[in-house]
Amino acid sequence: MMEIEQVGPQDCHMNGGVRKILLGKYEMGRLLGQGKFAKVYRGKNVVTQEDVAIKVMHKEQVKKTGLMEQIKREVSVMHLVKHPNIVELKEVMATKSKVFFVMEYVKGGELFAKIKKGGLKEDLARKYFRQLIFAVDYCHSRGVSHRDLKPENLLLDDKEDLKVSDFGFSALPEQNWNDGLLHTQCGTPAYVAPEVLRKKGYDGAKADIWSCGVILFVLLSGYLPFRNENAMKLYVKILKAEYEFPPWISKDARRLISSLLVVDPEKRITIPEIMRNTWFREGLTQSIPSASDLEDTENGVKSGDQDELLGNIGLKHSPPFYNAFDFISSMSSGFDLSSLFETKRRRASMFTSKSPASTILATLKSVAKKLNFRVAVSETEFKVKMLGKEEGRKGKLAVTAEVFEVASELVVVEFSKCSGDTLEYTKFCEEDVRPALKDIVWSWQGENVDCLEDQIGTSN
Ligand code: AMP
Repeated sequence: MMEIEQVGPQDCHMNGGVRKILLGKYEMGRLLGQGKFAKVYRGKNVVTQEDVAIKVMHKEQVKKTGLMEQIKREVSVMHLVKHPNIVELKEVMATKSKVFFVMEYVKGGELFAKIKKGGLKEDLARKYFRQLIFAVDYCHSRGVSHRDLKPENLLLDDKEDLKVSDFGFSALPEQNWNDGLLHTQCGTPAYVAPEVLRKKGYDGAKADIWSCGVILFVLLSGYLPFRNENAMKLYVKILKAEYEFPPWISKDARRLISSLLVVDPEKRITIPEIMRNTWFREGLTQSIPSASDLEDTENGVKSGDQDELLGNIGLKHSPPFYNAFDFISSMSSGFDLSSLFETKRRRASMFTSKSPASTILATLKSVAKKLNFRVAVSETEFKVKMLGKEEGRKGKLAVTAEVFEVASELVVVEFSKCSGDTLEYTKFCEEDVRPALKDIVWSWQGENVDCLEDQIGTSN
């Protein structure tokens, strides 16, 4: 078991060993795996006992390799995608030298480990392939392409369901150039689409479909369709889609793989077509609408057969997302990432809460009323506007409180003064609001923040 060596203020001694607690919240455990730029550790929420995976990145390395944008992207992407077949990002933390991504812990390890010589049985391969397509379809319908799909990024949970991880190379639509095509060459050569290798710009979603074709081939055969020790020869094989099926792959599976591994992205099968494919649909009675066919409504996604297969996706109308880096920099100078991430530092008074947004809005309303303020609550904008009834030194005090989502069960509430005297506003926040909100506050800005530097070992 990996030992994190440095002793910090929150280390606990147990059975002669040292427990490392991150931010007073997560106990750090053994090393689970290593990606190109990060190490992933097991962790446990010390309050809820929930298992998590914690991805640790060094800021120096991030700076050196110019990956800053990539990290920011990873955060925003992971908050855009909430799906049963996609690894959930719970929160982001940072010290002066490291960034920590707290993710859902996926117990079953890498799908890759299941693929033995000869590949998987077709039914099992079909199950994983379907879940992969559902996850990819969901991402694509939100304008996100993964761009690094490969078995190493496909994890299995305790129910043997697939979870797609590692959005390190993902791309949002705003990154596309004016021609709507992506120009960054990335991904792992064996899984990379021919148009990506040609470096002429490509459609990330179509490139993902190619990678799904390579994955399906690997699932069924147990080896890669394009292999060669010489990189140039490998590229040539990919550019020509030159591969051979092993004899045990069925006719229907071959047909599907052949329509996925099509060199011309325009002629490659699309996700709705995959969902109509005979091999894909084997054993299903109803049609499966793709995520883009499902209509987003204010209360959630219209249910479809896909929901039944996946369990309800459960998209709710939720508070706006508060950029994790704004949040981290605002909550403590110890976490100040503003120089690194060039985010605007917010000066307003704020607190974090684990209560639902509706409870927070209702509490703010009742507190403001008790303090003799007029109140207007916007349930859709997650804002509460408060206007003092009495004239102050600079007229009536007007304050807005706004609720933002930071992670799935954590919101930040930010107060800002709209008009009135600053001293009266400070007094209002410090003396009136703080005590009145104690039941819903998890921590106020600047509180409950420990220096993490000492707590996490430098061995990673
Ligand atoms: P990555 O940097 O995301 O490619 O992760 C590197 C390795 O860490 C993966 O290949 C997995 O073995 C492991 N890993 C990553 N994320 C998780 C997770 N959420 N739960 C369990 N293991 C993980």
